[in-house]
Amino acid sequence: MTTDQETTHQPEAMSFRAEVQQVLNILAHSLYTDREIFLRELISNASDALNRLQFEMLTNQDVRDADAELAIWVEVDKDARTITVRDTGTGLTRQEMIDHLGTIAQSSARAFVQQAKAQNASSSEIIGQFGVGFYSVFMVADKITVVSRSFQPDAEAAVWESTGGDSFTVDVAEREARGTSITLHLKEDAAEFANDWKLEQIIKRHSDFVSFPVYMGDRQVNQQKALWRRAPREVEAEQYKSLYQQMTMDYDEPLLKLHLSTDAPIDLHAILFVPAKRERGIIERRIEGKIKLYSRKVLIQEDAKELLPNYFRFVEGVVDSEDLPLNVSREGVQSDVGANIASPVQQRIKKTLTGRMHRELNDLAEKDPEKFAAFWKEFGVFIKEGVATDYEGRADLLKLLRFHSTTSGEALITLADYKGRVIEGQTEIYYVMGGSVEAARTSPHLDPFTARGIEVLLFGDLMDGFMLSGLREFEGMKLRNVDESDIELPGEADAPEGGLSDESFAALAAGFTAALGEQVKEIRASKVLRDSPARLVSDEDGPGREMQRIQQMLGRESEPLPRVLELNPAHPLIASLARRAAADAADPIVAAVAEQLYDNALLLEGLHQNPALMVPRLQKLMEAAAKVAEDAE
Ligand code: ADP
Ligand code: MG
Repeated sequence: MTTDQETTHQPEAMSFRAEVQQVLNILAHSLYTDREIFLRELISNASDALNRLQFEMLTNQDVRDADAELAIWVEVDKDARTITVRDTGTGLTRQEMIDHLGTIAQSSARAFVQQAKAQNASSSEIIGQFGVGFYSVFMVADKITVVSRSFQPDAEAAVWESTGGDSFTVDVAEREARGTSITLHLKEDAAEFANDWKLEQIIKRHSDFVSFPVYMGDRQVNQQKALWRRAPREVEAEQYKSLYQQMTMDYDEPLLKLHLSTDAPIDLHAILFVPAKRERGIIERRIEGKIKLYSRKVLIQEDAKELLPNYFRFVEGVVDSEDLPLNVSREGVQSDVGANIASPVQQRIKKTLTGRMHRELNDLAEKDPEKFAAFWKEFGVFIKEGVATDYEGRADLLKLLRFHSTTSGEALITLADYKGRVIEGQTEIYYVMGGSVEAARTSPHLDPFTARGIEVLLFGDLMDGFMLSGLREFEGMKLRNVDESDIELPGEADAPEGGLSDESFAALAAGFTAALGEQVKEIRASKVLRDSPARLVSDEDGPGREMQRIQQMLGRESEPLPRVLELNPAHPLIASLARRAAADAADPIVAAVAEQLYDNALLLEGLHQNPALMVPRLQKLMEAAAKVAEDAE
């Protein structure tokens, strides 16, 4: 290189963004445990770069060093106290170095800093969770040099260097070979890592299944054979766990694991996991699981969406099949309609995997009900959604459904359990909806069912209403909302005692109508209420009713549809009100109680839009009650 060129190629100094500086500062000065994971991060980046190159080469042979072996080399220089990790992956251009090695998303940097300060997680956990992978080298090194040459034939080689702190430099470099070499100059207190034997241990521990060879000298130190291509009986529990961690960065043990490996009728090797939690950590990064799809050793999709039904989107794992066409897009689902119709092989894989998932979940329910209950708590909502949206899967999904009921206490029951316990003459499955399971438990609609010993399913969340759109009946028994006014119940119950004359009831009804106006369609005496003073019933069972309810619960339709208010003439509260109404047709207490009873009914069903509005009225009623008590003294 001439002097002239050297002056035009002064290393360019640049600053890390503020949040990167903070992260680096913590990594360099506060984290001393699990420092060895820096190597896992470097190897994983090298493997990603190799994967990307391999994928590129499926369609583009015009790359630098098209014949180079795809691999990773780890070298140690004990005397210089350096480690170099080299790969033949995509490499980085100067601009890519600036873009990718100098930035972190602001939000994740902030969360990282918070979490690290809280010191309730090990460093490997926080690093994985917040995607500061590359920066983990600053735990062990005080100077990092990255030399790289991109696969693009016309790109120049570049070098990136940093001693941590607040800045890095980039410059042109001398390098012919495609790929990246990252050299760490180890800190004095990290000299232990300048040791072949030690590094080999670390590679075996954290990077054994990386799908490219990792060499030290000319010896390959990782096993490389993908775990999912082995027979399940040859794989140990620890290995599954470590695969799960590598894939998801989730340090909780998965709730369920499924390993399937077969070559006929299709070639299919898969390991799927159900995580322990739907969301995790303070930033709750996971919303959905990801399934990596490999074919012929190439990672062809990072997040394959076509291999399981949508309702299983919490499942994480890897699927590998030699029978897949390699032209599946790496980006996955494409937006324009029809572009991503699943191929017949994909459809067969989906069918097999879905069937196995259902089988495993049913087995779990049978063998470990407690664990299944944990599954249901986290992921039940997806199963309910599936019932509403996945016609094909419905029969299987119904088996997974679990319910609280009026007679099951804390236990969860299945539809089959319910069916096995119906009373003589019962032909329908009854359910009650509330703002929560606990609210549903106190519903006035339950009075006649409790009196007859009929079990009722308790529905307490939004998704229940949605689920019902796909759950009209079960094995010939129709599902029926207990708030319908015309239900003929089997069994017998004692007739409620006491009551009001038609005349006094009419006077009371007039008072209620005056207070409630258009909000109710009609006021009538209930034939079924026993312990509760009032309830709101529905006259029609239109198919849109549950959806309307969902809209109402979401507050999208602010006025509830007018319903029929049934009053219990045998209830002491109703009897007292009737006496007051007879004495004074305009009694303000009657009006206030009428409004409050109406609000109570909405509240229990989770349909009240603004319960705070009840407070002034309740205050007035309490004043009145206190005054009566005082007057009586
Ligand atoms: P992540 O791997 O989650 O993207 P990292 O901090 O580990 O985050 O890496 C940052 C980025 O640096 C990578 O996304 C990649 O673009 C680039 N990079 C790091 N190491 C390499 C490498 N060996 N070859 C090519 N690109 C790399
Ligand atoms: Mg990484």
